[in-house]
Amino acid sequence: MRQMSIQVPGTFHPEAPKRTPDSFDALGLSQPVLRAVKAEGYESPTPIQSQAIPHVLEGRDLLGCAQTGTGKTAAFALPILHRLGGATRHGRRPIRALVLTPTRELAVQIHDAFRAYGRYAGLRCTVVHGGVSQNPQTSALGQGVDILVATPGRLLDLMGQGFIDLRLVESFVLDEADRMLDMGFIHDVRRIVASLPARRQTLLFSATMPPEIRDLAGAILTEPITVHAAPPAARADRIEQTVYYVDRARKPDLLRRILDEQEVTRVLVFTRTKHGADRLGRQLARSGIQAAILHGDKAQGARQRAIESFRTRATPVLVATDVAARGLDIDAISHVVNYDLPAEPETYVHRIGRTARAGASGVALSFCDFEERAQLFAIERLIREPLPVVRDAASTPSDQPLPEPTVPERAEHLTPATQPSVPVRPLRRPRPVYRTRRARR
Ligand code: AMP
Repeated sequence: MRQMSIQVPGTFHPEAPKRTPDSFDALGLSQPVLRAVKAEGYESPTPIQSQAIPHVLEGRDLLGCAQTGTGKTAAFALPILHRLGGATRHGRRPIRALVLTPTRELAVQIHDAFRAYGRYAGLRCTVVHGGVSQNPQTSALGQGVDILVATPGRLLDLMGQGFIDLRLVESFVLDEADRMLDMGFIHDVRRIVASLPARRQTLLFSATMPPEIRDLAGAILTEPITVHAAPPAARADRIEQTVYYVDRARKPDLLRRILDEQEVTRVLVFTRTKHGADRLGRQLARSGIQAAILHGDKAQGARQRAIESFRTRATPVLVATDVAARGLDIDAISHVVNYDLPAEPETYVHRIGRTARAGASGVALSFCDFEERAQLFAIERLIREPLPVVRDAASTPSDQPLPEPTVPERAEHLTPATQPSVPVRPLRRPRPVYRTRRARR
C-alpha cells in the first residue's frame, strides 16, 4: 500500500498539506450538494472534510483516522453524492455506493445523513440492518437504490437471498473498521469486499489503527490518501473538567444534586456495566428523574426509543455504557458524567469528547470513589494534567451549593516528564437555568 499523508491541525505528520480549502464553495462540490450543506447550517468544513473531500472527488482511495464527532460522515457522503450525481444513470438503478458500518444506530445515522445531504441530488438511499423485519428493506431494494448503508450480518443475509447485487458498486466506505474488528465482523467484511468489483473507490475510516486494520487497509486500498482528524483530546480546552471524590453509595445522591444545581441541557451519564446503568435508571426514577437507558442488552426498539427521547430532549438524561454510547450522534450534550471511572484512561478522553462538539463548550464531571483512585491517576497521567477536585461533595448540606473544586498543588503520580500540556479550563460555577423534572415540580 503506497500512501500520501495529510496533516490536520492537532496532529503531527511529516508531510504538510498542499492546500486546505476553508469554505465549502472552494471544495468543488456540485450545486445540489452545496445547497444541502447550506440547508444543514454548516458554515465551513471541519478539518477532515477540507482535507478529504477534494481527494475523494478525484476518485482517490482514502484511509481516515477519525472517529464520530469529527464530521467524517459528511467527509465521505458529500463527495460520494457529488460523484454519483454526475455519473450516467443505468436503466435498472444498481447499487453504486455501499457504506458498511458495525451497528444499527450508526447505520441509521449515516442513512439519515445521506438523506439530508442528498435531498436535492435525486438519488435513492436505503439502509439495511438486523434486529428488524427484512420485508420493508427488501421492498425498498426492489425499487432500486443508488446508495446502500448496511451492517455486515444483514447485508450478507440479503446477498445470500439474492436481494443485493454489489457488482456495480463504484464507491465503498468501510466505517469504524476497528470496531468491526472488536465486534468480530472482520471475516464478514472480507467476504463482502470479495463481492465488490476490483475497480472501485474505497474509503476506510478507523479511530485506531491496530495491525489487523493496517493489514486490511493494505489489502483493500490502492494508493490511499491518509487523513488524521484531531482526536477529542484536542478539544479538552473547551471542556470544564471536575472530579468529585465520593463514596460509591453516595453517587446517586450526588448525581441528583448536580442535576438540580447545574445548567444541564443534555447529560450523558456513563456507567461501567449494563446492570449499573439499569440500577441507576431505577434510582433516578425513584427521585422523579426520568432517564433513558442505553446498553447492549436492550432490544433494538428500546434502544431506538432511548436515543430518540434523548435526541428530542423528552428525556434530557441518558445513562449508557461505553459500547452502547459509541457512535451516538447527538450534539449539544452539555454535560458528560463519568458516574464510574473507565478502566482504560483513553476511554475518559473519548467519553468527555461527547460534549463540546461542533465548537460548543461542555462540562465533564467524574465521580471517583476510593477504589477508583488508580484509574483517576491513570487518566491524569494520560492528559498530563491534575484535574480540579471537589473533596467533600457528599457531606455538603443539601441547602448549600456544592463546594468549588480546587486543583491539587502537587500530584505525586505526575512526574516532571508529564508536565501539563493542555491547560484545564478554570471552572466557573454554572448558573442553574435548565431544571430537571424533579426540580421543576
Ligand atoms: P460525524 O463525525 O460525521 O458523526 O459528525 C458529527 C456532527 O457534526 C454531526 O451532528 C454533523 O451534523 C455535524 N457536522 C458535520 N460537519 C459539520 C460542519 N462542517 N459544520 C458543522 N457541523 C457539522
